[in-house]
Amino acid sequence: MDFTLSPESKMMVKAASDFCEKEILPIADSIIENNDYPEDLLVKFAKVRMLGLAVPKEYGGVGTTNLNIILIAEELGKTGTVCAWPMLMNNSTAETIYRWGSEAVREKFLPPLCDGSAYASTAFTEPATGSDPTAITTTAVPDGDDFIVNGAKRYITGGNKKGYGVFYVKDGELKDQKANVTALIVDKSSEGYTTSAPWEFMGLEGMNCVDVFFKDVRVPKSNVLGERGNGFRILLHWIAVERIEQAGYMVGLGQAALDQAVKYTKERLVRGKPMAFMQGIQWMLGDMKSRVDACRYLTYRAACIHDEEGPFDVVSSELKIFVVPTIQEVTRMALQIHGAYGYSKEYKIEGLFRIAAHAGIVASSTELNKTIAGSALVR
Ligand SMILES: Cc1cc2nc3c(=O)[nH]c(=O)nc-3n(C[C@H](O)[C@H](O)[C@H](O)COP(=O)(O)OP(=O)(O)OC[C@H]3O[C@@H](n4cnc5c(N)ncnc54)[C@H](O)[C@@H]3O)c2cc1C
Repeated sequence: MDFTLSPESKMMVKAASDFCEKEILPIADSIIENNDYPEDLLVKFAKVRMLGLAVPKEYGGVGTTNLNIILIAEELGKTGTVCAWPMLMNNSTAETIYRWGSEAVREKFLPPLCDGSAYASTAFTEPATGSDPTAITTTAVPDGDDFIVNGAKRYITGGNKKGYGVFYVKDGELKDQKANVTALIVDKSSEGYTTSAPWEFMGLEGMNCVDVFFKDVRVPKSNVLGERGNGFRILLHWIAVERIEQAGYMVGLGQAALDQAVKYTKERLVRGKPMAFMQGIQWMLGDMKSRVDACRYLTYRAACIHDEEGPFDVVSSELKIFVVPTIQEVTRMALQIHGAYGYSKEYKIEGLFRIAAHAGIVASSTELNKTIAGSALVR
């Protein structure tokens, strides 16, 4: 067991940290104000080789490890902005397309996801279901060489941004309608594809989560990933990858909360002395640090298991169970240390606390992951 990062990983952390300093932090306030990020955000990520991270070089990718992706997610989490999400969405969707796409599909769809000219989405949630993808009702009915897609998706990240999405639909021709889920690449500029205004959330401003409406949208049959009716397996893989990336982001968020708390305790005076000298405060800081470290190494372990092609669905569920509430508690403690200032929008910790709240729901709920981890033990 080796807890030291390789020279390549250290280089990536440094590059990501420099990128955040130069390109992300200066636009953090304007993203919140506009509830949107600049259109060229992904191109900027591409220029510093942070797109197509899991995709081989021949398709325009970087071909690096999952651990390195998590290290980058952590740096982005520290910014307390939404910017990690379009970038991670492109990376995880590109990984799905690489893993299950035909050669023609890979050649067509991967380069634009790797050079930042296309924004990716992955869509399974619908108005009536999020936790049970077998209950989705959006249908794809075969018509010659195409499918005709009808239905609606909900809360789709980047659904309103030009590019492609992997949409999970029911194949209208297959008999077993309960189990049958098909993964289909849809061009978001297709005729009949429309979106709502972005949802307003308590945090994650600029996430660009929209409802997507399909009205007789024509999609080539060649855009199917894997086999028709076999998309549930693909979705489970994507969600497990997403859970690890989310945990990396949360570790960064927790580290930022701790850093803010340490800084504040050194500046704030109580009876003429910095708060940092009070034992009760030091206990809180020590407690927060050990929690962030524990979350960090649990997350790195999951990424390493993914790199070794080991089964990572259960370990990624463990991240949901442990990392999410632990980092949420760390942001709460950091807010508490800031007193009333922590509750005000003047301080970064207020935003970190609100962002942390998303993680028990997005990329599958905590309760579902308890079921995954618990049932694996008794199966
Ligand atoms: C910021 C944000 C971004 C998102 N981005 C995307 C995206 O890009 N693509 C996409 O497809 N979706 C996206 N979503 C949707 C998200 O994935 C779903 O909200 C999530 O899967 C939960 O589904 P739901 O909201 O329908 O909750 P429900 O499924 O209705 O669950 C409600 C509650 O019931 C519990 N519950 C449900 N079933 C069970 C069970 N069997 N056992 C125990 N408890 C259960 C859940 O744990 C939860 O607490 C996003 C959501 C948000 C907020």
